[in-house]
Amino acid sequence: MYCCPTCQKAGITELQKRWASRADPATCRFCGRLSYTLASQTSAIVWWGILLLVIGGMASAALGSYEPLLASACVAIAYNVWAWRRAELFPISAESAKAAATVETGLAVGVLAYFLSVFN
Ligand SMILES: [Zn+2]
Repeated sequence: MYCCPTCQKAGITELQKRWASRADPATCRFCGRLSYTLASQTSAIVWWGILLLVIGGMASAALGSYEPLLASACVAIAYNVWAWRRAELFPISAESAKAAATVETGLAVGVLAYFLSVFN
C-alpha cells in the first residue's frame, strides 16, 4: 500500500499506483481523494526496463548464452519494483482529472481522424 498525498494514510494499492494517470487517477480508500503519478516518471520506468532487456539481449546474442539476458531481466524487474516504490503520487482534483480525460479522448479521436484522412 502507498500513502495518499492528501490524507497521508496508506490508502492506495500497488496496482492503483501503477495505473494512475492524470486522466485515470487512483482513488484513496480512506479520504476518496484522487492522485496520480507523473507520465514522465511512468514512461522513464518503462523505457529503462526495455533498455536493460535490450542490452541483455545483445550481450546474450554476442556471447551465445542466455545468461546475460536472464541477468538483465532480473535487474529490470528489481529496477521496476524499486522505481515504482520511489515514484511519487501527486494529488489531483476530480475536475482536473475529468479535463485530462477529455483532452486524452479528444487527442485519440484527433489522431484517429488524421489516420483515416491519410489512408482514404
Ligand atoms: Zn487519502
